[in-house]
Formats: sequence, C-alpha cells, structure tokens
Amino acid sequence: MDIKHFINFSELSISDLHTWKEEGGKVAGVYCIYAPIELIRAAGVAQVSLCGKKQAPIKEAERDLPASLCPLIKSSYGYALNGTCPFFTASDILIAETTCDGKKKMYELMGKLKPLHLMHLPHTQQGTAPFEYWMMSLRELEDFLFECSKVKVSAEGLHNQIVLQNKIRNELYQIAILAANEKSPLTARDMLAIQESKSFAVFPDKYLARLTALRTSLATFLKQPNLPASQSLRILMTGCPVGKGSEKTIRITEELGARVVCMENCSGLKGMTLPVDETGDPHEALARRYLKIPCSCMTPNQSRLESIEEMVSTFKVDAIMDMTWIGCHTYNAESTTLQRFVEKKLKIPFLHIETDYSESDTEQLRTRIEAFIELS
Ligand code: SF4
Ligand code: SF4
Repeated sequence: MDIKHFINFSELSISDLHTWKEEGGKVAGVYCIYAPIELIRAAGVAQVSLCGKKQAPIKEAERDLPASLCPLIKSSYGYALNGTCPFFTASDILIAETTCDGKKKMYELMGKLKPLHLMHLPHTQQGTAPFEYWMMSLRELEDFLFECSKVKVSAEGLHNQIVLQNKIRNELYQIAILAANEKSPLTARDMLAIQESKSFAVFPDKYLARLTALRTSLATFLKQPNLPASQSLRILMTGCPVGKGSEKTIRITEELGARVVCMENCSGLKGMTLPVDETGDPHEALARRYLKIPCSCMTPNQSRLESIEEMVSTFKVDAIMDMTWIGCHTYNAESTTLQRFVEKKLKIPFLHIETDYSESDTEQLRTRIEAFIELS
C-alpha cells in the first residue's frame, strides 16, 4: 500500500493547477467546508483550500489583526499578505463565508488583495427563513462564479458534480473506517494527509480513482493473516481544524502510545457522512446539505453531538479529545456542552485542550495528555 502520493499531495497538485490554468481554467481559493464544491465545479472553476495551518506568517498578520484572534485566521491572512502560499497566488478569486466574527472581519481586509465573495451564512440550521437566506446566498455565489468563468451552471452539470463529490466523500469515509482497524498500519498523521488531500483535488475524477485504489489496497492488506493488532487507547479528536504544521496534539498523542482513530473536525470527517440528495432540485439539495454541516458557528449545534455519538460507535472510540484554538470563542464555549454530553450520555473520558500553533506549550500538553491516557 503506497500513500506517498497523498503525503505530498498539496505539492503534487501545484503541477495539476498549472495544467488547469494553462488550459484556461479559473481557480477559486476557499477557506472553509461551507464552500459548495459542487457549485464551484459546475461553474467550471477549480477550488483549492488556502494555507493557514502554520505559525510562520502569524507575525506579519498581527500588524493588521489583533494578537487575540485565533491562529487559523491570522495564519490565513499572513499567507495572503506575504505571498508564500502558491495556492493563493494561483487563485483568481476567493470564496469566503460569514462563519465566525474574527474571520468575517479579516475577510474585509483580505478582500483588498483579491476579488473576494462573502457568502452570507445563517447562524442557525432551523426554520424556513434561514434556509431561504442561504439559498439566496448560493444564487449570489453562482452569479459571482459566472463573472469569473463565464460558464452558466446547468441542472445537469450540477447533478453530475453532486454525484462525483458524494462518491469522493464516501470513499474518504470508508478509508477512515479501514484505517481505524486495529491491524491498520496507517497513523493519524497519515490519515491527516489523506483527508487534507480532498482540499487540493484539481481533477476530481482522477482523485476519486486514487482514493478507490487506496481503499482497495488497504482492504486487501487487512485481509492478510497474522497481522499484529494494536491494543492502544482509541481516541476521537474533535474541535477546530488542524493541518500539516499545526498537528502537534496528534503528534504528542501518538508519541505517547495512544491512537487517534477518528478526527471529527473539518480537516477530518466533518460532513463526510452528509451526502447531497441526488434526486429533486439540485440547487435546493445542495443548500440543504451544506446547511447541515455541524460547525460551532451554528446555534444550537446539536448535530455535532449526534455526529460524534455515531463516530464513537463506528470507530470504537475509548476517549474524546476536544482540541480548540485559543481565540476561537465558538468552539471553546461549545466545549462545555460537548463535555456534559460525552460524560453523561456516552460515558467515556473527555479532555479539552486549548492551544495555538506555537510549540511553547508542548511539554505542558505532553504532561496533560499522558495523564489523560493513563486515567482513561
Ligand atoms: S470549523 Fe466551521 S468555520 Fe472552520 S472550516 Fe470548519 S465549517 Fe468552516
Ligand atoms: S478555529 Fe474558530 S475562530 Fe478560528 S477560524 Fe475557525 S471558527 Fe473561527
């Protein structure tokens, strides 16, 4: 089983991006999983996730932004300012959403650097008015995409993209289940790379074929007799998104001998079990699916609890770690609700870790995680 391609996926996708652009294709840079890939692709635009997971550009961002903002916002803005994110450079347009307050205000500054469209996202998943508002927001995005690519979205084109992205989400989820097998050789950091790769798939058909090949080879590998089975504590990680460069909590947990078998956050499996309905009006189906994403910017956010409960059972989880960034008010505040749910309903150990991208608290984190593993 060869996962080299996924480990270097973002670097390799830069050459795909050049091919796409040479053929006249347009590129949209996105920051959040509320960006509706199917609509962007149906408008003839390729989407890539923009960098924001490393400490390096934060200092530059703090010239314009308060130091108290979450590191993800500062890192994203820093990369946009300093020109070191090749995906930002390649992007013709940016697509942003009104998720948390810090991001919204940062996008006002970022919009001075490139054409940026802000999607207006309601802050609740309940009721007719929020849904209508979100539908309108998708229509506005469609107009903005048309301005960029001059490609009109057809119902058939959108349906085809929905079918394709549903397949990709399903493959990623099936791979995650296989990777969590006690005999799987894949680490959480391998899985982080595989799951992050979805954000850089310039040619989705080719990407789907690679995912299918990986799932098949992993399934074949696991059928071998006498593979050693891991007895390690199985942890579900939830909270804010992490990525290559900000994965210190995962690294420390693995170094201490536990296994992160499931990542519920946006860089992991959030939304992977939410297919878009392939019947009926594709625009409406798309809007319904994206509004169901269980992000803490929604209130209430009951579906996050339900999704975690399902994953605890599917991935045979022993304990939960909620990793949030300092400055992320919504995920930090929601941690109390989650802790009560996990301890009362799921009856498994829970640890909340609040940290940032720097390495300054590494030893302190190691001590807390070590104690948590020992007591779980
Ligand atoms: S945590 Fe929420 S705001 Fe952040 S990327 Fe995920 S869906 Fe978007
Ligand atoms: S981690 Fe929290 S504060 Fe940071 S961008 Fe995401 S939702 Fe906003």
